[in-house]
Amino acid sequence: MTLDNILEEIKKAETIVVLCHESPDGDAVASSLSVMHAVAKLGKEADVIIPEYSKVFDFLPGADKILQKGRTNKYDLAISVDCSDLKRLVGGKEYFETAKRTIEIDHHSVNSMFADFNYVDPVAPACCQVLIGMFEYFGIDIDKELGTCLLTGIITDTGGFQYSATTAETFEFTAELLRRGVNVSDIYKRVLNTVTKANFELSKRVMNRLEILENGKVTFTYITKEDEKQVNAEPGDHEGLVEIGRNIEGVEVSVFIRQKEDEEDVYKVSMRSSQYVNVSDVCLMFGGGGHPRAAGTTVKGDVETVKQKVLTELKKVL
Ligand code: AMP
Ligand code: MN
Ligand code: MN
Repeated sequence: MTLDNILEEIKKAETIVVLCHESPDGDAVASSLSVMHAVAKLGKEADVIIPEYSKVFDFLPGADKILQKGRTNKYDLAISVDCSDLKRLVGGKEYFETAKRTIEIDHHSVNSMFADFNYVDPVAPACCQVLIGMFEYFGIDIDKELGTCLLTGIITDTGGFQYSATTAETFEFTAELLRRGVNVSDIYKRVLNTVTKANFELSKRVMNRLEILENGKVTFTYITKEDEKQVNAEPGDHEGLVEIGRNIEGVEVSVFIRQKEDEEDVYKVSMRSSQYVNVSDVCLMFGGGGHPRAAGTTVKGDVETVKQKVLTELKKVL
């Protein structure tokens, strides 16, 4: 597989759909819109399908074109971005499964390479950074609109250039995007420095319940469906809550669990590590995945059961 194959498939296709992972974060939404803009520059139209996403990302150029459902049942080409496994492609999986050709563009190292063409860079800090390299190869002009999307994915997935996966290229791309008129400080303020009221209310609960365990190396906290209901939480309002524990001095792993909407006895587990624990490996033990310092999975049980299951695995790697 080469990038030329991908370009050829885009040029050949008459109908294109772009999909990303469930509970999409900034990188997922921004990567989807970036592909839409890039494909338009190649003279094609792509449908972006994201049934639910945080309104924080409504400022992204092209967000008004996001669809909740496809305009046809069968696309010539389906492109998945920022998603490591077909299981996580909810809200659009059927379009992927019925498409004549499929492409996966991603940066998750634990990856099932589920498309006909898989372009995965496991050391890139964001899918948007993988896309920049690809668009440069295609000779696509990265203007202010496309650049705003690309930089949003990078800023959200690197926590504003602070995570260790950030590379020298990340700053080089950012410098170039600044020259092209992308408003870095506006993006930063919108996606990192502004929290919704519901997110703020949830963070108070997360802090009150936060336990410091394993000699100060692990933190554990949670929110339930009831919490989200009480604060009128909307999609994306739980984003960032897992970071609270990791920021405490001496903490290596922060664990945050959130009750699933549709299944009472299943929790979505988020893990972040500080220096040496590979949380992607830990999540893999439960069938999940992610990156060395940021990963996720789902675990069955009530809060206490999930906590004990996760701690049992963490104790082995601390
Ligand atoms: P989260 O804690 O949901 O913000 O996810 C952290 C990272 O792990 C992101 O890169 C996710 O895409 C990835 N991730 C989360 N849940 C899963 C899962 N069940 N399987 C694979 N990767 C996941
Ligand atoms: Mn993501
Ligand atoms: Mn990502």
